[in-house]
Amino acid sequence: MKVAFIGLGNMGLPMALNLLKAGYEVTGFDLVQSQLNSFREAGGVSAQNVAEAVQDADVIISMLPASRHVQTLYLGDSGLLTVANRDALLIDCSTISPKVSQEIAAVAKEKGFAMIDAPVSGGTGGAQAGTLTFMVGGEVQDVEKGRPLLEKMGKNIFHAGANGSGQTVKVCNNMLLGIQMLGTSEALRLGIANGMDPKVLSDIMAKSSGRNWALELYNPCPGVMENVPSSKDYAGGFGVDLMLKDLGLAVENAQNLEASIPLGKLARHLYETHSNAGNGQLDFSSVFRLKED
Ligand code: NAD
Repeated sequence: MKVAFIGLGNMGLPMALNLLKAGYEVTGFDLVQSQLNSFREAGGVSAQNVAEAVQDADVIISMLPASRHVQTLYLGDSGLLTVANRDALLIDCSTISPKVSQEIAAVAKEKGFAMIDAPVSGGTGGAQAGTLTFMVGGEVQDVEKGRPLLEKMGKNIFHAGANGSGQTVKVCNNMLLGIQMLGTSEALRLGIANGMDPKVLSDIMAKSSGRNWALELYNPCPGVMENVPSSKDYAGGFGVDLMLKDLGLAVENAQNLEASIPLGKLARHLYETHSNAGNGQLDFSSVFRLKED
């Protein structure tokens, strides 16, 4: 089976490499030459443009930064939908707006393509280890066609519902994660202000009703846990600006639907403040340092 992989960035490159390792013939394309070189050096075939990458492909996967990149890739004048083989299954793994995802899938369907959205959770570590969680939206037969491939890049493959549902789950999950990280940081800071050892406080809350993923596996207070960004000056991990992008998607989505998300809006504001203070590239758990003023 021939696979085309568009977008070989922090996530796309290791995902494409896992498909190569699993024995798929993978042709990759990225606008950045150094990413293409890394892919070629690891055994992949590099293409010079989208048309070259997707010719003869049975499955086309995209992993791009945001909605506008995905719109241009699929719907642009000489975009993917004008050059790809109509039998190809299209899988967009980028995190984008559910509405945009639905719109692109509708145009793809009109042109005779099968398309699913399959955003991921698990970060660059999960992409390298092949343990990502995929949240998939689309028709059952298309999801099942893509499943064997997704299983080579991830551990959990969930069919969420119709086209766009994968993106909806991703937006809800990351909004909850962003809020959870803020709440966990706040509780830890209050304990520390009371003279508590943050490790003792974390251990007790982790066995009490305040337990959550940020507290137990990604503790934002430096020194509480080894091998998490907070203990490495907040380097690596999931950037503040990526969290800000996902919270922006949540706010936009809620506005479109007149859904009420006061905490999501507040979280977006707080991560924005933190980013504007020059912390955009740090891991998102660095909001632990955010002061009230
Ligand atoms: P990235 O910026 O590292 O990679 C995106 C790549 O797409 C870049 O190399 C860029 O050159 C390329 N690109 C952009 N437009 C292109 C085009 N038209 N044709 C070909 N290549 C193009 O981003 P990333 O960290 O790999 O994230 C990709 C997506 O995954 C984003 O939507 C992000 O929100 C989501 N995501 C990221 C993480 C993470 O931890 N990094 C975790 C989960 C989900």
